[in-house]
Amino acid sequence: MKITDGNLVRERYEHLIGGEWVKPAGGKYFDGTNPSTGEKLGTFARGDASDVDRAVKCAEAGFRKWNALEAYKRGQILCRVAQLIREHKDRLSYLESLDTGKPLSVSANDMEVAARYFEYYAGAADKILGEVIPAPGGYLTYTLREPYGVTGHIVPWNVPITQAARGVAPALAAGNSAVVKPAEQTCITTLELALLCVEAGVPPEAFNVVTGFGEDAGQALLHHPLVRRISFTGSVEVGRLVMKGAAERIVPVSLELGGKSPFIVFEDADLEAAAAQAARTVVKNTGQICSAGTRHVVQRPVAAKFSALLVERMKKVSIGPAVENPEIGPLISEEQLARVLNYMEIGKREGARCILGGGRPGSEKLRKGFFIEPTVFVDVRNDMTIAREEIFGPVAAVIPFDTEEEAVAIANDTDYGLAAGVWTRDVARAHRVAAQVQAGQVAINCYQPVQVEAPFGGYKQSGIGREKGLEALHHYTQLKTVMLPTR
Ligand code: NAD
Repeated sequence: MKITDGNLVRERYEHLIGGEWVKPAGGKYFDGTNPSTGEKLGTFARGDASDVDRAVKCAEAGFRKWNALEAYKRGQILCRVAQLIREHKDRLSYLESLDTGKPLSVSANDMEVAARYFEYYAGAADKILGEVIPAPGGYLTYTLREPYGVTGHIVPWNVPITQAARGVAPALAAGNSAVVKPAEQTCITTLELALLCVEAGVPPEAFNVVTGFGEDAGQALLHHPLVRRISFTGSVEVGRLVMKGAAERIVPVSLELGGKSPFIVFEDADLEAAAAQAARTVVKNTGQICSAGTRHVVQRPVAAKFSALLVERMKKVSIGPAVENPEIGPLISEEQLARVLNYMEIGKREGARCILGGGRPGSEKLRKGFFIEPTVFVDVRNDMTIAREEIFGPVAAVIPFDTEEEAVAIANDTDYGLAAGVWTRDVARAHRVAAQVQAGQVAINCYQPVQVEAPFGGYKQSGIGREKGLEALHHYTQLKTVMLPTR
């Protein structure tokens, strides 16, 4: 079958609760939009507190069934999920591209990453270990890592299926059940993922999806008394609200928030390689990546050369509708387009020099979608708005520095701390700077290779807790200590 929008997108998406399509209790729906064309893409159930209540109660039953399975059997089922994602990769990629505006090849890569999450945590399911503690007084004292029960996942729009998989795969591996609230802009692949999980053998009650908006469905999930743990990925602003909500109920919460990551280039670096990587990083996902290196902190003697190389690469980037598989697609929405354009204007107004892009592409074809030009600003100071706030668009800001000490100071002069890049041929300096930069992940002479195995999360306002790797299992298990006298 040839894949087209028409035969792939369901006419109407309901909530997916207990493996069934469930109409919204309030009877309300909202429309999705294809960001490449600005046209309607699907109709989605608008969830409210009753829908969330139904999903959470279902997940509570799902938890008992799922957690009763032997851990290795849970692992086998999660492995099967990975296999099904791969089998359905073309269809899922096409849907993700329609829904998000990602080029097809990027969506295909996201499907592989989603599959890897399930595979990775499948292998971990029967290796969630406790410890025996050598306590005094003749006791056998040991710890157990137990699941929480129902976990709630609130997910953003920029990498929908991989964010859902990043939270749900470890949660399920540890024996929890899940209720996911995808971003209202991008619900499709999360619903499809839940269907594949059921097909793979996850009890239908253990993975539920309620679609809708943050202020109603998101808040209801946060405040539901049976949700024992919250995983939130999104903006700092909403993260703050989520943390307040979690504080009211004293439920553990992990927050994966935004970033304004420094990409530090020393004069002895391989400039060609650094600029090529910088260009790829800035335009990836049209700049809508939380960990994107967007502050290019470059040693003064090579700043002009680096900027020229960056421009040379970024100006060649092809832009187009997602399903034509260009290098970059549109931004997610009209709102995001307005936001990024506004930052570009602020940059110019505050005195940064725009040497590439700075607006919308001229082509008539691209006028209907939410397209934006890859943009480079030079002569940026770290106190300018474009160096301080997360733009979430393909915008590079080159900030010159003189000494290593100054580079570290600029890198750390931010409220964020998600990721950082260090480019130098001096091994000692690379490690010295990596140690001093306040960020959850530091890449040396590379930038953010995709590794589901490597813990990821923020320092400072970029978040609390770590996703990915074995570390994430700590989010989805709670520790119990057992003591037994032996004499
Ligand atoms: P957002 O904060 O607006 O929304 C994220 C999710 O929260 C959505 O599902 C939304 O519906 C929900 N939400 C909104 N208001 C809510 C409320 N009052 N109560 C409960 N839920 C609510 O973020 P976004 O615009 O969808 O995503 C972009 C942001 O996500 C960027 O800041 C980006 O850096 C961040 N992000 C971080 C990571 C990470 O791993 N650190 C990954 C991807 C995206």
